[in-house]
Amino acid sequence: MNIILLGPPGSGKGTQSTYLSSAYKLNHISTGDILRSEISDKTKLGLQAESYMNSGDLVPDNLIIEMVSKKLSLLNSVLLDGFPRTLNQAESLDNELALLEKKIDFVFYFDVPAEDLVLRLSQRISCKNCSSIFSKIDKEYICSSNCKEQILYQREDDKPEAISKRMESYISLTTPLIDFYDKKRIMININANKSILEVSKEIDGIMQS
Ligand code: AMP
Repeated sequence: MNIILLGPPGSGKGTQSTYLSSAYKLNHISTGDILRSEISDKTKLGLQAESYMNSGDLVPDNLIIEMVSKKLSLLNSVLLDGFPRTLNQAESLDNELALLEKKIDFVFYFDVPAEDLVLRLSQRISCKNCSSIFSKIDKEYICSSNCKEQILYQREDDKPEAISKRMESYISLTTPLIDFYDKKRIMININANKSILEVSKEIDGIMQS
């Protein structure tokens, strides 16, 4: 099974990915996590991506498409989190999957009111090591069981100027994907303005029906 999580920054895609990839044995591909790891390893791709990411811009399609293609050809059953984010990426993904004789089964669209997203992002704290995501209002921060050492930080692009840029990029470049997948009749709207557990249960209901 291959699934895409689509939605604005801060809508909870990363948090639900942790649950869904483990519950349904899916290989989690988070383009944001891969890029952050490339930056921390100072690879060529990391150096090319860093300034775009820090300022809240999308990384150019050619770099992202090549990065994801390499993974797709090696993995069965993927959960795509943060990809595709442009029509060009979505069309390349379709072509790539067709060559591999695979398809997307579901696109879950995470619906959250715009006014809540900025608050969620500005309160977000992440672990540099395992990518676990917390909110400043959480009572405790417990990383995933495989985290070797918790290193909490606020992502550069969760700071105010970058948040506005990310929202603009989302609206102009990513929202056309809603229509793209809706027309293919594989998109399911998820009310993601609920607790983490309630959102997981809503998705479970769909996966198990
Ligand atoms: P995320 O962790 O998904 O919020 O992504 C963080 C940042 O990584 C984005 O704001 C972009 O700069 C970059 N990024 C992640 N995925 C993509 C993508 N599919 N296309 C372009 N840039 C991306």
